[in-house]
Amino acid sequence: PGVPDLEALQHQDVARLLPVPGAESDKYRRGVVGVVAGSARYPGAAVLAVEGALRGGAGAVRYVGGAADAVIAAHPETLVHPGPPDRAGRVQAWVVGPGLGDEPGVAEVLASDVPVLVDADGLRGLDPALVRARSAPTVLTPHAGEAAALLDATREEVEAGRLAAVRELAGRYGATVLLKGSTTLVCGAGAAGAVRVNPTGTGWLATAGSGDVLSGLAGSLLAAGLRPVDAASCAAYLHGLAARRASEGRGPVTAGEVAGTLGEAWRDVRAG
Ligand code: AMP
Ligand code: MG
Repeated sequence: PGVPDLEALQHQDVARLLPVPGAESDKYRRGVVGVVAGSARYPGAAVLAVEGALRGGAGAVRYVGGAADAVIAAHPETLVHPGPPDRAGRVQAWVVGPGLGDEPGVAEVLASDVPVLVDADGLRGLDPALVRARSAPTVLTPHAGEAAALLDATREEVEAGRLAAVRELAGRYGATVLLKGSTTLVCGAGAAGAVRVNPTGTGWLATAGSGDVLSGLAGSLLAAGLRPVDAASCAAYLHGLAARRASEGRGPVTAGEVAGTLGEAWRDVRAG
């Protein structure tokens, strides 16, 4: 009683939370994001997740996975590491899963002591006990289909009860959960507090690869030190705003164009 079930994410809250580098800043303080994504079959997911992380203000992005050539060709700023994630050097947050297919990396990253965001293929068969045992926060970003698989439910059941589904997952995994869809919901770990509703979504986001951009962006805010629930909700807010801006007066946009417009969305938020 007294605690609302839902609260809309407010523009001024996002503005207050977004990190702006000061004079004393350097790339390590701005946050280093590790991205474990992509595969021979889905190299583009790695490229888009890395771009989301770079455009989300990360000081540097380390990439581990099977799409290194594509990542470097698209984003020469990326630090590419052969070998497993635990050899890649220090990161402040990991993003794992987009386009990963059956490639390894999820278990290694979950064994780390820094925040981890799990998306897409990383969510397949994810063990709640493993996530609950982590020493650092975990963020899960399923769409309705991925949430349904985790809950042993159907997509229709999740869509019909999105609020219950996001709470159930946050409780079961002890993780912050961002449930994607036409109105994205964010629930804090353990299902504590009100569920946040993102008001900036647009149907133009329903395009291949846009979820990969969101993962990188949220990972970058995690690496900057935002609380998981704030990183997830600010990412959803900026992502929607960027898609609106990118499509303004033009219509359809690609996920890459959404990523490319994140800087303008950021500026809009800071401008109030
Ligand atoms: P994914 O399913 O992983 O590719 O992610 C799709 C992205 O697009 C997520 O950020 C969703 O919230 C967003 N999205 C999908 N459909 C819609 C819609 N109808 N309205 C607003 N956002 C959507
Ligand atoms: Mg996806």
